[in-house]
Amino acid sequence: MKSFEKTFTQQESIPEDGIARAVEIMRTGRLHRYNLAEGEESEVSLLEKEYAEWQGCTYCVACTSGGYAIALALRLVGVKPGDRVLANAYTLAPVPGAIHNVGAEPVFIEIDENYHMDCADFEAKAKSSGAKVLLLSHMRGHIADMNAIMDICGRYDITLVEDCAHTMGATWQGIRSGNFGKVAAFSTQTYKHMNSGEGGFLTTNDPDLAARAVISSGSYMLYARHGAIPEQEYFDAVKYDAPNYSGRMDHLRAAMLRSQMPHLEQNVNRWNVLYDDLHRRIDMIPGLTIPARKQDEAYVGSSIQFRCDAVDKMDIPALIGTLANRGVELKWFGDDEPRAFTSRYDSWQYIADMPHLPRTLAVLEKTVDMRIPLTFDLADTALIADIIANEMAAYMNRKANTA
Ligand SMILES: *Cc1c(COP(=O)(O)O)cnc(C)c1O
Repeated sequence: MKSFEKTFTQQESIPEDGIARAVEIMRTGRLHRYNLAEGEESEVSLLEKEYAEWQGCTYCVACTSGGYAIALALRLVGVKPGDRVLANAYTLAPVPGAIHNVGAEPVFIEIDENYHMDCADFEAKAKSSGAKVLLLSHMRGHIADMNAIMDICGRYDITLVEDCAHTMGATWQGIRSGNFGKVAAFSTQTYKHMNSGEGGFLTTNDPDLAARAVISSGSYMLYARHGAIPEQEYFDAVKYDAPNYSGRMDHLRAAMLRSQMPHLEQNVNRWNVLYDDLHRRIDMIPGLTIPARKQDEAYVGSSIQFRCDAVDKMDIPALIGTLANRGVELKWFGDDEPRAFTSRYDSWQYIADMPHLPRTLAVLEKTVDMRIPLTFDLADTALIADIIANEMAAYMNRKANTA
């Protein structure tokens, strides 16, 4: 029986020019973003300019992590302790963590069988909770119906904050994710679409919010050394009021990220070649259901999700174990117990008002997730799909024989 030998957590190396630049920066000893020689341009500021331009937004602040950017974004749109924040229940732990970090309480919204925010439930909860902020996670790259989301936000006077940790480079009806809300957060943590180990961006087109973001990210009064910032008058208006929540990016990470920027577009295509091949193959496997991607969405297929609809919930751990023995690493979003990076909303027990979301639980109960690193190729996706097909067939046979 064939096994898959590559590692699902193996990312590509940092481009050579990024490594060279990082080493050069280490030799200068000037690693802090405001530690510059006379006339020297800050590596972090250059990155902010380049990212803002690529993203198609006006302002960008590089910071220590995506989770940091989300918490800062929530503070900047005015979330106060005790406030409620609407959020999709299918997300990753740093999202409710960011809401908790600002002292607020999440109001979780159901997802549908395609992993999108359920807009009927969103509207019902917008009405019943009175919450004025929606933190929308484009979880695993599945972008909800943004026309419906924006319409509900408009009608209930809700400010949209986008978590684009899985959608850097993705678009919906031609608009890049992150450009719908008042403010967006991106992550450059190792497993996202650019890799600096840890890191993130906050982006916005709002000059007042941008000025406060720069100062609160920890600029002291050195904000003029930033790359993509508003006019001085916006800083004058807020510089005595914006607290310093120290969370700056450094030159080393910026050098790594700048070297990846020119490859980002091409990497999106490389991910989708692998994703589309896996999607097509998994779609043919009896017993598995892979949600169709909406036409409106141009995704970045850096991971794939599908449902084991023909597998009983109690049999899923064994199936995942069998696949792991053959080198195919799947994560299960339906596990009662949180494991590694994966947890279900009801395991975040610090949340006071835990809802029961039957639709979300039913979808996640059968959902598995697989990373698609760019170190894989089409021979790998073929082998992975073969192994999954093989083990699914064996399971279906056993099930038929014991029935
Ligand atoms: C990774 C991730 C984050 C947080 O990013 P970090 O940079 O790791 O803090 C937020 N939301 C989602 C959906 C993520 O996957």
